[in-house]
Amino acid sequence: MSTLLIKNAAILVTMDDRRREISGGGLFVRDGFIEKVGPTSEIPSKADEVLDLSGHLILPGLVNTHHHFYQTLTRAVPAAQDANLFNWLRTLYPIWARMTPDDIFISTQTALAELALSGCTTASDHLYLFPNGSRLDDEIAAAREIGIRIQASRGSMSLGESKGGLPPDSVVDTEANILRDSQRLIETYHDPKPGAFVQIVLAPCSPFSVTGELMKQSAKLAREYAVHLHTHLAETEDEQAFCMQKFGYRPLPYMQSMDWVGSDVWFAHAVYVDNDEVRTFAKYGCGVAHCPTSNMRLASGIAPIKEYLAAGVKVGLGVDGSASNDGSNLLAEVRQALLVSRLKEGITGFSLSNDPERKLMTARSALEMATRGGAAVLGRSDIGSLEVGKCADFFAIDLNCLDYAGALHDPVAALVFCHPVRADYTVVGGRFVVKESQLVPLDEHELIEKHNRAAKYLLEPG
Ligand SMILES: [Zn+2]
Repeated sequence: MSTLLIKNAAILVTMDDRRREISGGGLFVRDGFIEKVGPTSEIPSKADEVLDLSGHLILPGLVNTHHHFYQTLTRAVPAAQDANLFNWLRTLYPIWARMTPDDIFISTQTALAELALSGCTTASDHLYLFPNGSRLDDEIAAAREIGIRIQASRGSMSLGESKGGLPPDSVVDTEANILRDSQRLIETYHDPKPGAFVQIVLAPCSPFSVTGELMKQSAKLAREYAVHLHTHLAETEDEQAFCMQKFGYRPLPYMQSMDWVGSDVWFAHAVYVDNDEVRTFAKYGCGVAHCPTSNMRLASGIAPIKEYLAAGVKVGLGVDGSASNDGSNLLAEVRQALLVSRLKEGITGFSLSNDPERKLMTARSALEMATRGGAAVLGRSDIGSLEVGKCADFFAIDLNCLDYAGALHDPVAALVFCHPVRADYTVVGGRFVVKESQLVPLDEHELIEKHNRAAKYLLEPG
């Protein structure tokens, strides 16, 4: 039994059903779960560890719904800097094919370190290449050392170039191997309980890199074990053309024909959808991982987030892989989501509209996507808000910094409108992953050195 008391926060943003923002707020935590939340005067005054966060803003830990940790090794690769999705992938597949288990381990730690420093406490990752003996186990081991919760997605590619897919045959696997390994991972690691640190997700990579048969078999296996399903969908116009030409369907109807709709399914991107498809998302409870930076970086397009939210679709945010972002800063992604949503409004005539009902996305709704929204997308009711019984996952930011100077009329909005800063504290299940802006589980400079060495070798082997 261990207890933690956080007290005197300038504002504690609960993201509970009433969206309470508590001045002078505090949290009392026992064994990783929140036992009390409220004004500091109304919660216990003693605990094993006590931290006074006067002058700080506290928020629920951010939830990242889409990432490829391994891509932190291939950020800003010159040949892939100015390409659209398909050309970017064709350039990077052969480099990724050289990765080793050590590369997976190091890149996971780098991505999770960046995420933690931006307030993230739960991250989904989508690993879909397993070259040179790499396994999802390498990622899970690395995440356990950092202490962030992960939804580790067992990705896969089975449709190589010779069968009409996009990836070279050298990076795809047989469907029997993929399904056998998926089952092994679920049985070894998946923890369905509240407070889980590792959950397994089945995640064939995309319609253009796996067969329909693998989509169907993955859905069947996932439902036998009650684990969730994830894939990239409707990311670009190229993908839409590929699906029409190869399957005779648009991307979402194709997935419907594969039994890939339901509240246990979430899709990354979902940019190219029509109004009927938005309603299909809502009807079946499918979630969306909105990745605005990646969509801009690869010139993919702007997802119709306002339409999704209006239809009641679950929407979370994702930084996406670090070769198309090229970072893992989730707080920065909240800001991008706000800005790109407003850009879309501008493009579609906001300034000319006299409709008083037409509103811009607010800072608080962007934060809501990154917290409650992300938790809903991942199917987790134990995270996403600061409430009694939920995981003690939160982050704190010192408001007395240059970036927020002049914005303290509304510190919560400042967090989104102003330039993103490092989290001063990030706590997962009552344990500090970031303290006084420094990573607790490992030495940041050693990690940077190891990571740069691995990245250099990957691009210039021998
Ligand atoms: Zn992705």
